[in-house]
Amino acid sequence: MLVSLEKVIGETIDDASKDLRKLSLAIHDNPERAMKEHKASELLCNYLCSKGFSVEQQAGGLETAFVATHTSSAGADGLCLGFCSEYDALPEIGHGCGHNLIAISGVAMFLAIARVLDVCRVPGTVRLFGTPAEEAIGGKIKMLDKGVFEGSDLLMMLHPTAGYSGSWHSQCSLSMVIEYFGKSSHAAMAPWDGINAGSAAVVAMQILGIMREQLKPDWRTHGIITHGGSAANIIPSYSRIEYTVRTGWSSDLETLRERVLRIFSAAALATGCTHKVTEEFAYLDNQDNQVLGSMYEDLMRKEYDVPPISDVGGSTDFGNLSHRFISLHGMFDLAGTGVPNHSEEFAKNARTEEAHKRTVFAAKSAALVAGRCLVDTDFWNQVKRAHNEKGNR
Ligand SMILES: [Zn+2]
Ligand SMILES: [Zn+2]
Repeated sequence: MLVSLEKVIGETIDDASKDLRKLSLAIHDNPERAMKEHKASELLCNYLCSKGFSVEQQAGGLETAFVATHTSSAGADGLCLGFCSEYDALPEIGHGCGHNLIAISGVAMFLAIARVLDVCRVPGTVRLFGTPAEEAIGGKIKMLDKGVFEGSDLLMMLHPTAGYSGSWHSQCSLSMVIEYFGKSSHAAMAPWDGINAGSAAVVAMQILGIMREQLKPDWRTHGIITHGGSAANIIPSYSRIEYTVRTGWSSDLETLRERVLRIFSAAALATGCTHKVTEEFAYLDNQDNQVLGSMYEDLMRKEYDVPPISDVGGSTDFGNLSHRFISLHGMFDLAGTGVPNHSEEFAKNARTEEAHKRTVFAAKSAALVAGRCLVDTDFWNQVKRAHNEKGNR
C-alpha cells in the first residue's frame, strides 16, 4: 500500500510542481507583512478554487486566512487531516524565513492527500489552513481561539531552515509592550520639574541586562526601545519598549514572565513614572509526535544522507496547535549552506530552483507520513499512543 501511496503522492506533487513554482515566486517577489498578505492569500485561494476545491476565505474572521476542504469520494467518515500554509514576510528582508516555500508545501501536501483519499477510496477529509501572521501576532493562535482547527485529527506543516528535522522542540515566546508615563519639562530651565519616562526605559533595559546572568540556557530575553523621547531639550513624558521573553518549556514561561514584570515595575518606581504593560501573544513550545517525526526523518535521510539537526531554537505559533492536536512540524534544508533564517541570504536562497526542489521533496515525504496515517491502522495507533504519552513539562 505504501508503494502505491508513494506513487500517487509523487505524481500529484510532480504534476503541480510548475504551478507551485509560479505561486512561490509570486509570493516571494511581493513580500507582504503579517495581516497584510492580501495578494498571497488571494493567489493561493484562486489556485485552489481553480482546482475545484471549496475555499472559505477570511477564516476565523482574519482577513487573510482561509480554509480549503476536500472530502473523500468514499465519504467523510474517517480521519480529518490538516496542513498549514504560511505566507507572511519580514520587514526589510522580505521572505527571509522562506514562507513562500511553506505556502506551496502546504498546497502540495493538501493536493496529494486529496488525491490519496479519492484514489485509494479512503473515507476522510483533508483541509488546508492558510495561516497568516506567523512572524508577528500568531495567526494560528487567533484561528485556534475561533475554533477554525476543530475536528482535526492531525495537523502538519513544513518549514525551511539550515537542516532537516522531524522533532523541533521550539521555544515558548511571550511578547509585550511596556509604556512609561512621566511629565515633560524644559531640560535646561526646569529639569527638576520633569519626570523622565526615557530614564525609566533605560533603567529597565539595564536591569534586564543584569538579569541575563541568571537565565537558564534555553531562556531568551530580547527587546528594543521604540520611543525614548521627542527632543533633547524636553524631559520625555513618554517612552515605549517592545520586549520578548522565551523559555524552552511552557512550565518556565510564567517564572520568567513574573521576573521581567517585576523589573518593569522597579524601573517605574525608581524614576517616579507610572507604567502600563500590554501582553500581546504567547507562542507555546512545539511538541512534535515522535512516531511521525521519525518516519519523516527516515525519508529525508534517504535523500540527503546526513543526520537530522537538533536544537534549532526559535518559536512558532504552530506550537499552540501541537498542545491540542497530534502534529508534525517538519523542517527541511533550504540549500545545504547553513545560512540562518531571517537573513537576506536566506531570502535569496528561498527563491532558487534548488530550494523549490527541496520543498517538493520535503512535501512528498511529509505527505507520505500523513498518507500512512490514513491507510495503516497500526501506524496510526502508534501515533496516537505517542501523543497520549507525551507529557507537557
Ligand atoms: Zn521566521
Ligand atoms: Zn518562519
